[in-house]
Amino acid sequence: MAIYVSGHKNPDTDSVTAAIGYAELLKAGGEEAIPVMQGEMNPETVTVLERFGVTAPEIMTDATGKTIALVDHSDLNQAPDNLDANNVVGIVDHHKIGDVTTNNPIFCCVKPVGCTGTVLKQLYDTQGASVDPKVAGLMLSAILSDTVNFKSPTCTDEDKKAVAELKEIAGVTDTDELFMEMLKAKSSVDGVPARDLLNRDYKDFDMNGNKVGCGQLELATLDQVAAIRDDLYKAMEEQKAEGGHHTILLMLTDVVKEGTQLVVLSDDASVVEGAFDSKLDGNSMWIPGMMSRKKQTVPNMQKAFGC
Ligand code: MG
Ligand code: MG
Ligand code: MG
Repeated sequence: MAIYVSGHKNPDTDSVTAAIGYAELLKAGGEEAIPVMQGEMNPETVTVLERFGVTAPEIMTDATGKTIALVDHSDLNQAPDNLDANNVVGIVDHHKIGDVTTNNPIFCCVKPVGCTGTVLKQLYDTQGASVDPKVAGLMLSAILSDTVNFKSPTCTDEDKKAVAELKEIAGVTDTDELFMEMLKAKSSVDGVPARDLLNRDYKDFDMNGNKVGCGQLELATLDQVAAIRDDLYKAMEEQKAEGGHHTILLMLTDVVKEGTQLVVLSDDASVVEGAFDSKLDGNSMWIPGMMSRKKQTVPNMQKAFGC
């Protein structure tokens, strides 16, 4: 009976590529295995599969009657619908253990590393299987994605070792360039209306009775939005007029330079300048090191409003 290898719902690059990589490893061990995914790929994953010339797995959302291996998760609510946990025969993952329980022993390999791709590479090595160069490219991309090019606190030395070995197999000389290609795909703003971009990742806050909105766009380079800066500002003006905000901020975050161009529309811009100890140049200011709305932007604004 074929084993369907599935990543989690709302699939990311690791979920899709680990399904492919683990299915290949199962096949090398004589099993019949089919990689699947639970929905359409995101733009980053599309770019990765195109770059390495690999066909997308078929979409499968219902596990009724199927034998399943789970990758990049072990939670039932992230698994395919109608999954009978007793039909799970394998788990390869790098998250906390989920709630799948089985009546029989199964193959389970879960490690505290940055990416399922890293766990998989170690499994290939343990089993003495060679990684197909195209699949190596996929696993490599997944590790760069999940570890944000090694910058994430979840990244371990094992992830770095796996990348060093996989890039040789895949024939990738410059992993920074690969990461940038992925980041550009992920953060693409082409053809998206300015108002949608403002609201792509946006939250309103109440700060001492003042309504403050803050959106964030994570970018590979600020050049990506250079041509639409006026449109973005107009979108902020519309949103402020409709919502009655005291302030709307838009964080244009340069993930590579690790800083944010903070675009400010406020009834009292001096409050925002004070919050970040910086002066506006036109309608924005560059804040080095600002990456996180939750940990940096919002707390500073709350403090400025005396919250
Ligand atoms: Mg994932
Ligand atoms: Mg992952
Ligand atoms: Mg992820």
